[in-house]
Amino acid sequence: MHRAAARLQPLVGERVSATSPNPRGQVTRGAPAVDGRVLESVEAVGKNLLLRFDGDVVVRSHLRMNGRWRVRPAGGTPWRGAPWLVLRTSRWEATQWNGPVLRLDDGRARALGPDLLAGATTIGAVVERLRAADPGRLIGDALVDQRLVAGIGNMWLAELLWHGQVSPWARLGDVSDVELQRSLEWGRSAMRGAIKGERPSRAVYRRAGRGCPRCGEPIRSRGLGDANRTAYWCPRCQPGPAVRTS
Ligand SMILES: [Zn+2]
Repeated sequence: MHRAAARLQPLVGERVSATSPNPRGQVTRGAPAVDGRVLESVEAVGKNLLLRFDGDVVVRSHLRMNGRWRVRPAGGTPWRGAPWLVLRTSRWEATQWNGPVLRLDDGRARALGPDLLAGATTIGAVVERLRAADPGRLIGDALVDQRLVAGIGNMWLAELLWHGQVSPWARLGDVSDVELQRSLEWGRSAMRGAIKGERPSRAVYRRAGRGCPRCGEPIRSRGLGDANRTAYWCPRCQPGPAVRTS
């Protein structure tokens, strides 16, 4: 996603003409909405690529496994195949291929919090965003709320809280800035490592009943939050409110 955003940067600031050669791309009606507009920014937010155009028009590209953005100088040979979306400027031609989801932003992506993996995101900015949220929320729920901070899945949540020694059941208001920073720093660095192909060693995720690598206490698990994701934690290393587990 971040690579795709970088590839599209040459088009930023340019007025584009947009077409959808692929019939499946036409269904999303992205091209007529952005045709003739100036591309103001392209950024990766979580698993979405957001293309903002003048007039407050936003296109969201969620690339699954086969989706691709390609960029080349304008005026080359015709494309082989039918891209879902073509953005042309006087100098560049960007094409989107096999992008199953490419549509006008419905407002959800716009509301995404800072992406933990984005180079421009500082841990301080994430902590600030969390501090603006309801302090009564459980930290194990808040950190996977993509509106507060984007990019943290359930496994990373469990692992980063264990490394930061924060209970997933702690209220946001009871977790210190230092604890948040420690957890998020570890999480970001481990997630970046995973992108480069490093295999993370799991301390708590899906290890309920087995010994904590730090203290030997049995790992616990229980559903947490509205989506009832399973939280994993060490009750000794991550002390917090008493939680009954079966
Ligand atoms: Zn422990």
